[in-house]
Amino acid sequence: MEKVYDVIIVGAGPAGLSAALYAGRAKLSTLVLEGTKVGGQIAITSEVDNYPGSMEDATGPSLTARMVDQAKRFGAEMVSDSVVGTDFKDKVKIVKGEKADYKGRSVIIATGANPRQIGCPGEKELTGKGVSYCATCDADFFEGLEIFVVGGGDTAVEEAIFLAKFARKVTIVHRRDELRAAKYLQEKVFEHPKIEIMWNSVIVDIKGDGLVESAVFHNRETGETTEIKADEDDGTFGIFVLVGYEPVTEVFKGCIDTDESGYIIADSRMRTNVEGVFAAGDVRVKTLRQVVTATADGAIAAVEAEKYLGE
Ligand code: NAP
Repeated sequence: MEKVYDVIIVGAGPAGLSAALYAGRAKLSTLVLEGTKVGGQIAITSEVDNYPGSMEDATGPSLTARMVDQAKRFGAEMVSDSVVGTDFKDKVKIVKGEKADYKGRSVIIATGANPRQIGCPGEKELTGKGVSYCATCDADFFEGLEIFVVGGGDTAVEEAIFLAKFARKVTIVHRRDELRAAKYLQEKVFEHPKIEIMWNSVIVDIKGDGLVESAVFHNRETGETTEIKADEDDGTFGIFVLVGYEPVTEVFKGCIDTDESGYIIADSRMRTNVEGVFAAGDVRVKTLRQVVTATADGAIAAVEAEKYLGE
């Protein structure tokens, strides 16, 4: 007979893995569907220094690896499959994957969010060829080269500081005249000898034949447009696009309520509009998207799923 899990967790970032730990410890049969990348956003984060108790040299991947081990130790099963659809009509809910369908008495959606793109010509074509969305993954390739970081939030500023360890020079390209990032991060970049800021600017075109060779910058205040070409000796430079995230909720559209930006609406007990379906972490409407709030959401969702199953 096909297995019906007590809880199916969709997503293996901090929220999903924390839910798996709590569900496993509560002796619920637990399946985690991990999609394409385990760890969610922290898997591509270079330093995690604001998660209480994390070690000084903690990285996203190392924290993720420990969370996975811990969840498995308490019995959570992990399957790599991308969710393509759902059927939440009945008590037993169906999560449809690319490889198989999975049945559960409750579901926790912890699919997080994906990096947003700038949307300019050349961005897509040159992704992986100079354009990157992940400093941890790609910093190595730009050792000694120039790097442009697009964005003005915590991610852009934090990763600009990280990238400056590799690059000859880092320029933060921000569309306004004020950074959104936390003040302590701003102070770090303002006094960093290798980091400059290009204010009121956006990239409108990225050019190159197989590798990024130049980019066109538009100053929104002066209206001026400038093309910056790679240094002749370098031949290329890096463009790290770190302009926020978009929730991964496409497959739940139509059955789970979201806000206008696509984030899932859940109450403080992580309950969505569908009984037995919970949402946790960056995927839900909330004011602070951090590892610490994601793990807290995951714990609450698992405890609420346990209560729901007991009713
Ligand atoms: P964010 O806070 O949404 O900031 C996105 C930045 O990109 C903003 O500066 C925004 O400009 C800019 N932007 C957005 N769309 C753009 C576009 N199309 N072209 C050019 N620029 C664009 O995103 P985030 O920095 O990735 O952070 C996401 C969440 O994670 C936040 O809640 C953040 O606090 C949290 N986070 C925390 C830490 C930490 O505490 N250490 C680290 C990383 C992330 P505007 O400012 O003009 O809107």
